[in-house]
Amino acid sequence: MLSTPGRIGVIAALPEELQSLLDAMPDAEPLQRAGRTFWVGHLQGRDIVAVLSRIGKVAAATTTTVLLTEMACQQIIFTGVAGGLGADVRVGDVVVADALLQHDMDASPLFPRYELPGLGVSRLHPPADLTARVVGAVREALSPHALSVNGPLRDVHLATLGLSQPRVHQGLIASGDQFVSAAADCDTLRHHLPGVLAVEMEGAAVAQVCHDFGVPYVVLRTISDRADESAHIDFPRFVQAVACRYALAMVEALLQADRGS
Ligand code: SAH
Repeated sequence: MLSTPGRIGVIAALPEELQSLLDAMPDAEPLQRAGRTFWVGHLQGRDIVAVLSRIGKVAAATTTTVLLTEMACQQIIFTGVAGGLGADVRVGDVVVADALLQHDMDASPLFPRYELPGLGVSRLHPPADLTARVVGAVREALSPHALSVNGPLRDVHLATLGLSQPRVHQGLIASGDQFVSAAADCDTLRHHLPGVLAVEMEGAAVAQVCHDFGVPYVVLRTISDRADESAHIDFPRFVQAVACRYALAMVEALLQADRGS
């Protein structure tokens, strides 16, 4: 799926998500760097370094930089949860980023709002062919068939959680150092960023580091909330019951598809 062989860095946003990956990497060995534990091992026969991102853009940038420099990763997969902003982006859906932007970057009037000083752009894009292949693999991984029979997803009972069959969206993810939990803030984001699908706190930082190093990356987000006043409700249950399982299923699907290509 990720086009070239080589070591892959898998960044998880939450400890529960990292643990579900580590449960599938019995040979993983810990390596301490920058106050973080990097787990070096194998998943689906691939050379993997799995690590907790820590929350926020700077933390995610540090984690990504270590993966690319000290750990020599040649590709990055980020998996985490996010707030849904797109009208049809529901809790339990997945968003694959085809563009990422820092919604709290504003160096105006020196640079246009959102523009990354020095880069001359506000949005960063993973390679289009890679994004298309990732969307296909994730749709397959979360298909009704996979949800009924497949390993990590076999006991995800969507109906009992009030969720429906996940839809896989592709589009803009906005990142910032803010947990968005007010409808008014969502309206502001949608107003300034038409078409934005999801908001979170790390993806665009990972994208910027990968852009600087010229390394391909994928940002996958399972929608945990609608970024409004109900954003915190049942978050732990959702993470355990759904997001962790999706994270492992999606990452395994990407690695398998890569092997098959
Ligand atoms: N503090 C919570 C979890 C942190 S939520 C707990 O442990 O109980 C913040 C994480 O979820 C970040 O990694 C962020 O990227 C993502 N996220 C999910 N919903 C979000 C929202 N509405 N706004 C911003 N980030 C969100």
